Amino acid sequence: MNQPDNIPGQPQEIRRLLGPADIRALAAELNVRPTKTLGQNFVIDANTIRRIVQTARVGPEETVLEVGPGLGSLTLGLLDAAKHVVAVEIDPVLAGRLPNTVATWRPEAAGRLDVVEADALKVTELPAMPTALVANLPYNVAVPVVLNLLKAFPSLDHALVMVQDEVADRLAAVPGSKTYGVPSVKAAWYASVRKAGVVGKNVFWPAPTIASGLVSMTRREPPETKATREEVFAVIDAAFAQRRKTLRAALSGWAGSAAAAEQALVSAGIDPRARGEVIDIHDFARIAEHKVQLPA
Ligand code: SAM
Repeated sequence: MNQPDNIPGQPQEIRRLLGPADIRALAAELNVRPTKTLGQNFVIDANTIRRIVQTARVGPEETVLEVGPGLGSLTLGLLDAAKHVVAVEIDPVLAGRLPNTVATWRPEAAGRLDVVEADALKVTELPAMPTALVANLPYNVAVPVVLNLLKAFPSLDHALVMVQDEVADRLAAVPGSKTYGVPSVKAAWYASVRKAGVVGKNVFWPAPTIASGLVSMTRREPPETKATREEVFAVIDAAFAQRRKTLRAALSGWAGSAAAAEQALVSAGIDPRARGEVIDIHDFARIAEHKVQLPA
């Protein structure tokens, strides 16, 4: 593979990124057959990588956490923009090859990459504190991965993730919309979330059956509440487990009885006849805070 010399600070537009032939060659060398179980759809289009990196607004002083670097398409783009990249990959073959790929394609950046072979659903420690999460996520675990990382790494200040388009809509949904649900409210605990675009199927190998979406997140303070995050998340889970029911009914199990649910809702200033899909994270936090302590 013939590389142009890369000079740090050189605009990324003129740095080569992995294209279809490079991905094919790497996959053949490693005997990789992309699996659905691990959500392995590799980006083969340099313009999509540039778009993700630009939309992520990664600064030159940032340490970026990339989940699922795969064959390295996005990793190279991130190394062009950031100071450091920590890449967490569950597949040992892909994790093992990534340092070589970076040494070949971005020799000057090899010392700015850490590869961690781990499950992003479980990772709680990293070799460097990340300030940004940028990832083409494995689609079947995208929401739990995002929530786990925002919880585990408070240093993450912003994120740009690519997920299934419908999951992007759910993450960015606002109260009252059809797609509003558990992912939207829990993500809103940590960050302000907005959809940042749609990506077609043909930029991937293998091409997925549906379009992808970009989601941009900016960390903010969680709602002020005496309840813990776990307590608030328990209310959210209960409310959406029966999303067609009124909050009074849906929260009766959580509260101990329908009357106790009503009391908590009224104290929190929420109409007990409302449904979970119309209230926001601040409302859920208030409900959790007003849970009535039943006598033992
Ligand atoms: N970033 C690469 C790209 O854009 O071409 C690959 C993205 S692919 C959609 C998802 C990647 O996540 C795969 O490399 C897969 O092996 C990895 N992966 C799947 N589940 C994972 C998990 N729980 N933790 C870390 N990586 C995971």
